Amino acid sequence: AKAAGRRTFVRYDDSMDVANRRRAQLSGALHKVLDRGELRLVFQPRLSLAAQRITGVEALLRWTSEEYGEIPPNLFIPLAEESGLILGIGEWVLREACRTLRQWHDAGMTSLNVAVNVSVVQLLRGDFSEIVRRVLADTGLPPHALELEVTESVLMANAEQAAAKLQALREMGVSLAIDDFGTGYSSLAYLKRLPITTLKIDKTFITDLNRDPDDTAITTTVITMAHSLGLTVVAEGVESETQMRFLDHFRCDEIQGHWLSRPVPPADCLAFIRAWVPGTTS
Ligand code: C2E
Ligand code: CA
Ligand code: CA
Ligand code: CA
Repeated sequence: AKAAGRRTFVRYDDSMDVANRRRAQLSGALHKVLDRGELRLVFQPRLSLAAQRITGVEALLRWTSEEYGEIPPNLFIPLAEESGLILGIGEWVLREACRTLRQWHDAGMTSLNVAVNVSVVQLLRGDFSEIVRRVLADTGLPPHALELEVTESVLMANAEQAAAKLQALREMGVSLAIDDFGTGYSSLAYLKRLPITTLKIDKTFITDLNRDPDDTAITTTVITMAHSLGLTVVAEGVESETQMRFLDHFRCDEIQGHWLSRPVPPADCLAFIRAWVPGTTS
């Protein structure tokens, strides 16, 4: 029994080594992404259910490493946060997203907004609102066309500091969304104190809509609560017509997900939006 226990331990230790080595390799490669131009953005459209109109897009980061191939953001974003590389990468994302939207506005699509994911490291370190102000000035995108998404857990962990940072951004005219809403522990009172404009219901709740009574209750409660606070509600991860109809019935404002479109390169996304016919989904 003793020997078997030891073997199990050794095997576990080996796999930890492999995982750590992999992380170290990726971190090394991550240092070179900006110089090598290995990053790109894909865009996923957002649909207003009541207006049957595409209101905007979310920019999502993609990394194809020369050495390691395609690495998912859920793997490399945490590494970039640990090393501080997220500051440079995040600014690149912001600039690229605003530049792309400005081009779309110039092409006549002036009502479209862009949502950009912001890491807590970006929000809390340095003068983030100054960076945003500069990127907007450089690209010529109007502030109201930009929405910044911050995850709920991150806001809760740094409540006071975050609130001050968000206030400065909101005063600039930028919209502010809480991402992955429902996964943390935000109280109604706390939400009321933050200058946010939008709640994004986490996709884990949307997946089991109609099947899991708890998820259904959480979703309908979040929609009601958000509306009572004057916030726009977006459901993410909408994959079926059934989910869309449910969300429409409960007056969810906007949806995003594979049912409408997967995240795609900018030209494809613009083509999708141009080809969009109101009412085709209802
Ligand atoms: P997120 O902000 O919650 O983004 C939504 C994720 O759900 C995206 O995964 C998107 O591709 C995926 N998704 C969209 N529609 C559906 C659907 O119908 N079903 C399912 N199952 N998934 C759907 P992605 O692109 O892999 O990004 C994962 C996470 O990485 C993001 O979650 C966000 O937290 C982070 N991330 C992505 N880009 C950036 C970025 O530029 N900066 C920062 N700080 N984080 C980013
Ligand atoms: Ca997001
Ligand atoms: Ca989310
Ligand atoms: Ca997420």
